[in-house]
Amino acid sequence: MAQPPPPPQQTPPPPVPVGYTAAVTPPSTPTPRPERRPAPPASSSAVATRFSPQQDQSPLHAPRTPGPLTPGEGPRTGSPLQQFSTPPGPPVFSSPLRPSAVPFRASPALPQATPLSSGGGSSLPISSPTPHFTNGSAELSSLALPGVDESTFESPYVLFTAHKVLKQKKLANIPSLGFGALVSPGRELSPGTQVVEREPHRCQNCGAFSNLYCEVLLGSGQWQCVICKKLNSSDGEYIAPSRDAVRQWPELSSSAIDYVQTGIKRPGFVPMSDSRVSAPVFLVIDECLDETHLQHLQGSLHAFVDSLPPTTRIGIISYGRTVSVYDFSEGSMASADVLPGDKSPTEESLKALIYGTGVYLSPIHASLPVAHSIFSSLRPYRLKLPEASRDRCLGTAVEVALAIIQGPSAEMSRGIIRRPGGSGRILVCAGGPNTYGPGSVPHSFNHPNYPYMEKTAIKWMEHVGHEAHRHNTVVDILCAGTCPVRVPVLQPLAKSSGGVFVLHDDFGEAFGVNLQRASSRAAGSHGLFEIRCSDDILVSQVIGPGEEAPADARESFKNDLSASIQMLSVEETQSFALSMETKRDIKSDHVFFQFVVHYSTAFQAEISRVITIRLPTVDSVSAYLDSIQEDVVSVLISKRTILHAKAASDVTDMRLTIDERVKDIALRFGHQLPKSKLHRFPKELSSVPENLFHLRRGPLLGSIIGHEDERSILRNLFLHASFDLSLRMLAPRCLMHREGGTFEELPAYDLAMQSNAAVVLDHGTDVFIWLVTELALGAELAAQEGQSAAALAACRTLAEELTEQRFPAPRILAFKEGSSQARYFVSRLIPAHRDPPYEQEARFPQLLSLTPEQRTKLKSSFVHFDDLSFCEWMRSLTLVPPEPN
Ligand SMILES: [Zn+2]
Repeated sequence: MAQPPPPPQQTPPPPVPVGYTAAVTPPSTPTPRPERRPAPPASSSAVATRFSPQQDQSPLHAPRTPGPLTPGEGPRTGSPLQQFSTPPGPPVFSSPLRPSAVPFRASPALPQATPLSSGGGSSLPISSPTPHFTNGSAELSSLALPGVDESTFESPYVLFTAHKVLKQKKLANIPSLGFGALVSPGRELSPGTQVVEREPHRCQNCGAFSNLYCEVLLGSGQWQCVICKKLNSSDGEYIAPSRDAVRQWPELSSSAIDYVQTGIKRPGFVPMSDSRVSAPVFLVIDECLDETHLQHLQGSLHAFVDSLPPTTRIGIISYGRTVSVYDFSEGSMASADVLPGDKSPTEESLKALIYGTGVYLSPIHASLPVAHSIFSSLRPYRLKLPEASRDRCLGTAVEVALAIIQGPSAEMSRGIIRRPGGSGRILVCAGGPNTYGPGSVPHSFNHPNYPYMEKTAIKWMEHVGHEAHRHNTVVDILCAGTCPVRVPVLQPLAKSSGGVFVLHDDFGEAFGVNLQRASSRAAGSHGLFEIRCSDDILVSQVIGPGEEAPADARESFKNDLSASIQMLSVEETQSFALSMETKRDIKSDHVFFQFVVHYSTAFQAEISRVITIRLPTVDSVSAYLDSIQEDVVSVLISKRTILHAKAASDVTDMRLTIDERVKDIALRFGHQLPKSKLHRFPKELSSVPENLFHLRRGPLLGSIIGHEDERSILRNLFLHASFDLSLRMLAPRCLMHREGGTFEELPAYDLAMQSNAAVVLDHGTDVFIWLVTELALGAELAAQEGQSAAALAACRTLAEELTEQRFPAPRILAFKEGSSQARYFVSRLIPAHRDPPYEQEARFPQLLSLTPEQRTKLKSSFVHFDDLSFCEWMRSLTLVPPEPN
């Protein structure tokens, strides 16, 4: 620690080294926002967020729950995310990732016991659990600003299900409404995050970082750990004449800190300006496509390479029965070296490639015309075999791509510590399953050996994915078309490398957008996520894109009881869903949470992002309920539920689980109506049951989507997704077009399907645009069509804006009232047309603006069907729906 000895006084900390700009800000000024995490230049518009699929099942611990749990409510302050993002981007859909892998639950970590005397340093008279030293030593200085109300605290990286913690263990741990948080540790640097280039001060006992809630002995510079209460030395750095002075240290005044080390002194370090060469991208392309698919794919590929930054190195491989590795050394000619596809490449053949004269990875600025000519030279599949029966050596092709990305340095660097600069990316464009060579499965399920071969193939794919990850390369698999790709076999390759698996309807727009977003999404590597909390709190489950970290993955401290998770990649749109419990009745006024992610950026900087949050504790249940963030709680409950929906057969059980949770929450936190058996759902949680009702009916658990492969990919995506995307996948957002191009947000009820309306429904992985076709005659027809076209254009723009940063990019579908596709739209809305008018008006007040004729017309437009409305469902559970917010 202690690199540059900063002045004890109030001087701002350390010098900024070259390379990474660290903005160190003196706390007093709001200060300029530190530079963002360096990301490869984004191509095209998309910034991409990403997800990594993945979940492994490492039962880290606490397997708790099959049951319900639920968190609470929250829209009030909550949902930051739902604003519109303005800029338009290309939309399209895709369904994401992998099937139900079981996410792992991590955390067992028990909070540690609080040691009283600190080993080394002097010990403070620690009174009890919580700090608050009543002045023992006059110098002990609490840094937190007095009077700060943490219950309104919001962190861009961490969303708690409630802003207060219940003191009574029994109430706090009611599983139907659990307590927890969604943490997006890889989120882009937010304003307010301090970036410092210097070693952090860490508690020598438990490994926690010094932070804004630490108490500091100004005379000696010692600081007390908020987690274990030990007193630590700061090597004199925190010696200061006053509390204000010591708060000049960014970590003592800011909730979120990025500690950056550029590794300037590390061998092989290249200063950032020279290393702007982003990670190489290898396209691995299916040769077995029919003409139409190929044309779409070619369009997407041409656009993709045009979108890449000029310094990006690109490689192109195609595969069928053989693997063709395209050589950029031949000028504008498309020429390729061909390897057999039936077995893994031999060492000799790889050496011939790597040490030969061919150029297989070349910067775009030098090879753009060649890349275009390669794509143009691709030919449709010639034989007359059905799609599923064509020989595709996808596995061999990925092995070859990996070998080329590693290059000669893989051998030559043996014995040297090699920290590869960026991570490589392999983008597989597949139209069918891997049916030839290693990792393949037979064309037909009826093959007598299919189950065995599938098992072998899955293992092989996992192995290759792990190898890729070990070499810092992510494999994304983007599939399209109607041919089944055997998701269970391919998914492990993407997943174990930290990549994504996305299904598309075709190779067109959405596919192209996802190619771009996949290649440009910011990704770090070597991510390690640590969670430390006050002794009273137990992290009982972690769901997200990682697995329990091996013991040697972290630095060792005497009593480090953190839950530690190894991340396969570090990306913006991931999040971890943490469930927590209290271990005993809490006596202190606050509990502390510290989340840390360590990772390497593509530019060789090592970042340790430390987020420290303190929440007040309360005795009062109503104060607790008031602090609940309904949307966050809805997402956490849903993730815990979806985790258990591994197979189609589990879906019914999961729907029942939801019913039970909703009922349990009402029994425990709501109230019974007088002279009735009915319970009213607590109004503080009013949007929770509606969100869960959507979950029950929607693509994750309902019967909207036909194919289990697609459902399992969606569930997998959902389990890793950021809060925003998770919430949208859960409960769709409904926006009605208004004259003048504005939109009105309405509940996602079928009552929105009004004449003259155009509606955008954002359901996360799918966005629907629904247009009414009014019959019109003669001259009115033209005007009508003009209006309709304008409305459609406005809806499209909105849809693109809403999803500009989303990855995978959603499918955007537009259709007219009464068309066959309209049912996809209707099935995602809550059916409310059978509810009595007073109930409709209470929940969908926009109806009041309709004329009587319009209401009659609306009423007559519904086809009768049996689905329960939300109110009917609540009553079936002997509950009275909460009053709408
Ligand atoms: Zn500690």
